[in-house]
Amino acid sequence: MSTIQAPERLKPVGTPPPSLYADRQKVYPKAVKGPVRRVKWAVLILCLALYYLVPWLRWDRGPGAPDQAVLVDITNGRLFFFFIEIWPQEVYFLTGLLVLGAIGLFVATSLFGRVWCGFACPQTVWTDLFMGVERLVQGDRNERMRLDKQPWTLEKLRKKSLTHGAWLLIAAATGGAWIMYFNDAPTVTVELLTGEASRDVYFFFGLFTATTYVLAGWAREQVCTYMCPWPRFQAAMLDENSLVVTYRDWRGEPRGKAKADGIGDCVDCQACVNVCPTGIDIRDGQQLECIGCGLCIDACDDIMTRLDRPTGLIAFETLSNLAASTAATKALPPSRARCATGMEVRRMPRFIRPRTILYAGMLAGVVAIMLGAWLLRQTVTLSVLRDRAPLFVTLSDGGVRNGYTLKIANKDRDVGTYALVLDSRTPLLMQVQEAHGDRPMVTTRPDGITQWRVLLTQPPGTPTRASIPVTFRLVDGRGRTVVSESSIFLGPEAR
Ligand code: SF4
Ligand code: SF4
Repeated sequence: MSTIQAPERLKPVGTPPPSLYADRQKVYPKAVKGPVRRVKWAVLILCLALYYLVPWLRWDRGPGAPDQAVLVDITNGRLFFFFIEIWPQEVYFLTGLLVLGAIGLFVATSLFGRVWCGFACPQTVWTDLFMGVERLVQGDRNERMRLDKQPWTLEKLRKKSLTHGAWLLIAAATGGAWIMYFNDAPTVTVELLTGEASRDVYFFFGLFTATTYVLAGWAREQVCTYMCPWPRFQAAMLDENSLVVTYRDWRGEPRGKAKADGIGDCVDCQACVNVCPTGIDIRDGQQLECIGCGLCIDACDDIMTRLDRPTGLIAFETLSNLAASTAATKALPPSRARCATGMEVRRMPRFIRPRTILYAGMLAGVVAIMLGAWLLRQTVTLSVLRDRAPLFVTLSDGGVRNGYTLKIANKDRDVGTYALVLDSRTPLLMQVQEAHGDRPMVTTRPDGITQWRVLLTQPPGTPTRASIPVTFRLVDGRGRTVVSESSIFLGPEAR
């Protein structure tokens, strides 16, 4: 009897599919010194100083106005940024700023690769800070690895508690600073500490404290690898002329510790891997996990210096230079390829190319639009709401009346006084609540919206039309129309 053999690769029925989940391999980045690390420290200090100190900057806007330089005043619907005050109707300025930020990021990425991720992204900055604290308390890579492996002792408990305590303090300071951007900083600090702050304040303080602690203390590189969308689409902005962190394999390979002819400069010491905050090996080529922090450059340069070899085995380099150097080195006999820095192609990165011109053009366009919108921004605006129920009223003498609500927004800090003028081809009588005369005067309160009730009446005996266009104008003391708004006057069908 013949039996049918199942192909070897077919799994027996009922075998569960392979798991898509893999446990996180904890990364223990080693401390490193060097120019890139120094730049990273400088950026870190600058970013943290800006974040924590900006809410404490004061800016005098006159009596009755908040004196915090940067404040999102949700209660009164205002955003203050030094001399700039943005109203809710002007939220497009914020949208413009976000678009500007996004395009700026496109430009930076196309020129310098993941410079944002590696140096200035809040996740990178706070993770770096948390790692610094961890290193200070628990020691460098090897000591931390040993500590994690050893059973729980009083010493381990002390070190871990100290680390997490410090992390929580930093996280609380971060959550607290966030709240200050939405409230007066000195007031909300006192309220937070004395238990008198609102529930909303405590909620957001808790939320931002918790997210900082979890993201920078626990999740770390997983945020960049799994949660952040940026690495996914930043590849579309990079090309062979973008500066990225690269391992010059034409010079390093074949790697090996032996001092033999034909062996490359990489001595396979793993220093670049050990300092990497995402735990990857840059020698495997460009990877999504690489945030472009450049710490592996410092680590490798240090090794090369100790071995008395040229630095730059790992470097900020364009892929086109890398390919050209590889091609030039391949042409050499193996003995020279070992340290063929002489064959290195050092072309200046092409900063001006279609991609960067396009991004720069977009950037300039958005800046111009925003600047134009800001310069043409009206400090007084008028909106006219016509009564809808009833659409018109027929008076006992046969006249027809329409009612309107005029809302005048005054973005200045001074009271405004204007004459209200009506333009209409058909004669209409205008009555303004609490104001009299042909050109009734209306006043507007500073930094606020003033509402005026206006009645327009068509006298009896005047030929009527279903709809008459009208325009309301605010005229200042010098006779200039400050703002105008059109509406219609409705009446019964023509009679
Ligand atoms: S490979 Fe180098 S540049 Fe990339 S994340 Fe690791 S240390 Fe930073
Ligand atoms: S640090 Fe430099 S020499 Fe050491 S493994 Fe990395 S690339 Fe090779």
